[in-house]
Amino acid sequence: MGEFELIARYFQRPTSRAVLGIGDDCALLQPAVGMQLAVSSDMLVEGRHFFADVDPCALGHKALAVNLSDLAACGAQPLAFTLALALPRVDENWLAGFSRGLFALADAQGCELVGGDTTQGPLTICITVFGEVPRGQALLRSGAQAGDDVYVSGTLGEARLALDALRDHAPLPDELLALARHRLEQPTPRVALGMALRGIATAAVDVSDGLLGDLGHILKASGVGARIDTSIAINLIALNAQIARAERLFSYEKLLAYVLAGGDDYELAFTAPAAQWQAVQQAAQQSQTVVTRIGQIEAAPGLRLHNAQGQLLEKRYASFDHFA
Ligand code: ADP
Ligand code: MG
Repeated sequence: MGEFELIARYFQRPTSRAVLGIGDDCALLQPAVGMQLAVSSDMLVEGRHFFADVDPCALGHKALAVNLSDLAACGAQPLAFTLALALPRVDENWLAGFSRGLFALADAQGCELVGGDTTQGPLTICITVFGEVPRGQALLRSGAQAGDDVYVSGTLGEARLALDALRDHAPLPDELLALARHRLEQPTPRVALGMALRGIATAAVDVSDGLLGDLGHILKASGVGARIDTSIAINLIALNAQIARAERLFSYEKLLAYVLAGGDDYELAFTAPAAQWQAVQQAAQQSQTVVTRIGQIEAAPGLRLHNAQGQLLEKRYASFDHFA
């Protein structure tokens, strides 16, 4: 099968929101009046971001999900995406699975594939997403203010737990491994929550490299610091991980490290004025997403971890860095 047949068979579909999709030299997008385009790219490389034998359907989902997560962090509504694909060979089973997972999420989020590039090479998937957001309303990293509450959506740490288990073959109870693996392979981009937080959140970021590192981006961009209550944060990892801790499969410290510095979570971390507490709860309900208040923004720079008694903890957590 040639390049163009491959594109036509697995990726070309009619578009309804884009003016022009796959087939010409450029796709054409028409943002609605008063909207700004939000644009972001993410690349996934075999051996670096996923295992060679990962289920292609899950990979299709994840490749788009990590991009949609960036739109979510900006409060943007997904519109369209492009797909640049390097494939070692034409494997129809793989392509069928990959496109199925990709389009299932694309359809669920109203995000259309409008173009891309296809080449032979080591398996690499690069997606660029385009979203729209009312002018001036994008959530940025730079708006956090002293006194704001710090929130995080969903649960944290399971993806990294799965990665450790898959790498070391560390014995996890089946139920926990299945849940953690689902979180690693099929993350849920918090698009509805991001949109619902427009005009409420003062700053937002998506958690891809670990909570503390990504929250650190907000602190730096906003010129503030924060204190985080570890006695609340520890509960952000799924309940059956807590049960596994009770059964001494991990220490409290290990579990806390998964939560604070695990990575690959694709949850949102955001800040909002204390007076907006109810509006945050409403946004959470409206988007059917759990949000947890984990701390507070302070004027003094730096990230301070404290326990339930208010005692400061010394420990440092490194977030993920490809070149560190
Ligand atoms: P060009 O040579 O002008 O870059 P190509 O011949 O590479 O265009 O691609 C033909 C059409 O197919 C273009 O509209 C391009 O956007 C689209 N396309 C190529 N690869 C993909 C892909 N993996 N997914 C979606 N669209 C693709
Ligand atoms: Mg061309």
